[in-house]
Amino acid sequence: MTRVENKIALVTGASKGIGQETARLLATEGAHVVVTDILESEGTDLAKEIGGEFYSLDVSSEENWQTVIKSIQEKYGHLDILFNNAGITGLNENLGPQDPEHISLDAWHQVHNINMDGVFLGCKYGISLMKKHGGSIINMSSRSGVVGIPGAAAYASSKAAVRNHTKTVALYCAEQGYGIRCNSLHPGAILTPLWEPMLGTDPDQRKATIDTVAAGIPLGHMGKPIDVAQAVLYLGSDESAYVTGIELTIDGGILAGSSARPGK
Ligand code: NAP
Repeated sequence: MTRVENKIALVTGASKGIGQETARLLATEGAHVVVTDILESEGTDLAKEIGGEFYSLDVSSEENWQTVIKSIQEKYGHLDILFNNAGITGLNENLGPQDPEHISLDAWHQVHNINMDGVFLGCKYGISLMKKHGGSIINMSSRSGVVGIPGAAAYASSKAAVRNHTKTVALYCAEQGYGIRCNSLHPGAILTPLWEPMLGTDPDQRKATIDTVAAGIPLGHMGKPIDVAQAVLYLGSDESAYVTGIELTIDGGILAGSSARPGK
């Protein structure tokens, strides 16, 4: 239970879903976790539960980042692990259609503002706090950052940007000799609150939707938040000391193959 002992870790979007599970796991493994989110009461409860601290942080706000980073600088003088996790799909936020033909420019910008600009700002300010002592930045992309998604164009585009920017950050930090590693995560379908609006409340409908999604996954079921949290633990720990610029796929095998193939 000491894989990240005494490390200072910051998780964005930590009040729910993957971020919440990751904050719990990092704390269990010995890290002091700075829980951040726009959802204040859930985040404060989680921070209490795991012995961490909560900051309200909208990842798209440069001012918010400056405030949080300044507080960590004053309190601890450094940051060891930064998990840039917060993101939205654009499907649950009443932003209208998300396909490339009908999405509005405003909706396109809103999704990129959180998913892409949020990660850019996290990396920018994370580097400033990590460059003296080194550290690990883990950026949340998606399998949707690798393939096209007709019904979620801005989401897929923003996650592709995260995938690429991660490699730029990894190489830049290596060139500068900062001792900062930077890697991206590419989950497939992970059952979290993000899926709730798509699943609905009717139990039969929920089961039918989950079964349909599962049918497209080689391992035969959706992932759990802990499946992704374990990857963050690895990339945040010294076990991954020689790993930078990679894409870690956690998708039950979806990206391993193609649906257009001869039958079994
Ligand atoms: P989730 O359950 O919706 O949790 C995301 C958290 O981030 C929520 O607490 C959300 O608050 C918060 N958030 C939203 N906008 C924010 C902002 N501007 N600043 C800070 N926090 C913000 O989602 P999840 O499924 O855990 O997803 C976490 C990340 O994994 C996302 O980047 C997502 O794209 C990525 N991902 C998820 C899956 C999946 O299948 N679940 C697959 C691939 C990648 P609100 O609830 O108020 O919005």
